[in-house]
Amino acid sequence: MDPRVEQFMARIKAKNPAEPEFHQAVMEVAESLIPFIEEHPKYKHAKILERLAEPERVIIFRVPWINDKGEIEINRGYRIEMNSAIGPFKGGLRFHPTVNLGILKFLAFEQVLKNSLTTLPMGGGKGGSDFDPKGKSDNEVMRFCQSFMTELSRHIGADTDVPAGDIGVGGREIGYLFGQYKRIRNEFTGVLTGKGIEYGGSLIRPEATGYGCVYFAEEMLNTREDSIKGKTVAISGSGNVAQYAVQKVMQLGGKVVTMSDSNGFIYDKNGIDEEKLAFIFDLKNIRRGRIRDYADKFGCEYYEGERPWKIKCDVALPDATQNEVDGKEAELLVKNGCLCVAEGANMPSTPDAIEVFLRSRILYGPGKAANAGGVAVSGLEMTQNSMRLPWSREEVDDRLHTIMKNIHQTCVKYGKEADGYTNYVNGANIGGFVKVADAMIAQGVV
Ligand code: NDP
Repeated sequence: MDPRVEQFMARIKAKNPAEPEFHQAVMEVAESLIPFIEEHPKYKHAKILERLAEPERVIIFRVPWINDKGEIEINRGYRIEMNSAIGPFKGGLRFHPTVNLGILKFLAFEQVLKNSLTTLPMGGGKGGSDFDPKGKSDNEVMRFCQSFMTELSRHIGADTDVPAGDIGVGGREIGYLFGQYKRIRNEFTGVLTGKGIEYGGSLIRPEATGYGCVYFAEEMLNTREDSIKGKTVAISGSGNVAQYAVQKVMQLGGKVVTMSDSNGFIYDKNGIDEEKLAFIFDLKNIRRGRIRDYADKFGCEYYEGERPWKIKCDVALPDATQNEVDGKEAELLVKNGCLCVAEGANMPSTPDAIEVFLRSRILYGPGKAANAGGVAVSGLEMTQNSMRLPWSREEVDDRLHTIMKNIHQTCVKYGKEADGYTNYVNGANIGGFVKVADAMIAQGVV
């Protein structure tokens, strides 16, 4: 490892102990940025990287609520306000039992660069709770959301910090959170994105991350005179991002053969079609069941406790969670002929896996570029809320498509190597960094 990166990381680890995901995210960025910063001393003198790795503010709070049995439950809530150099803090809320400070700091750190890549004026943040919505009734989820927002409402606002959804936070949760915010503050503002269409949401926001990820994969494939059409695609996850990634791959003529959840994955050789996807939407968003039910219903293979990366595919879209593709699985993907990986999830590939993808010279689009479509349309939702004027589906989708193309171009601009290979990791990290760094310098030591 570059000794400068090693030194920098030693300080980060000492200052942020027991936060391995945060260390991992910062290290990946430091490896791209430290050589770049050495060539641009103004960033070094202003200690931009050191400042980027320190949140502007971290809020941790108690979330007490009462379950259906009348018992008191206590969860922990968080909001990481990471960086507001180019706009209000912006980033999702995650409700999952694994949530802790380190995971949210990694997500907030990634979010700063991602939001910058979209070209929209959004700073970076992230939040959530160790609350598990799985197996809870709608009333329990509502009571939790109301308690969570009772504290969070003091810290957020349409021009201050604008949360959205993430794992475990979909339309239902955003609705309850928005309702409570409005009640406490007595104001109807665009304080959250991912809202229902009846109360200020944007068309295409539910689709945006999945669609955007596939648009990004298509752009990468185009650089090799190739496209999604006719490709076999392996997708992990079966939540918001995965569902709409499947839909867009289908629309572009590809065949999706896998989806998963935390229990296992299905392998459908014939490909997921409209009817089967409609079943998934109902299963996951309404009945809140397990992916195994898909195999029972359509008679395909199901692998309990496994991940889909052993299945032969041309394109892989990891759309579930962090560190879900390890080095061995990456080797297997490449050996089986996978030529493009685009990350719908945040940091789904381990450092070993990334090393394999880059060494093999396959097309590898890291999450902060490939999944930026979600926050981009959240930004467009904020714009529509400010104008108090909604855009049509086509208008939002066109803008999303253009943004994904621009992010791709930015990655090529900053990531193209001497032999013509585009290192999208460097491209995304440097491309996202420059705007934030210049804004921070302009605003002085704050
Ligand atoms: P959802 O909660 O809608 O879906 C998450 C999916 O991933 C589910 O299928 C879930 O399975 C699976 N999953 C979650 N945790 C694990 C785990 N530890 N091991 C295996 N599978 C797991 O979330 P999203 O689709 O919104 O988010 C998916 C990823 O995309 C996350 O990394 C998120 O940060 C990222 N992302 C999301 C954006 C958005 O707009 N929603 C924007 C940008 C990135 P199960 O139901 O069994 O838990």
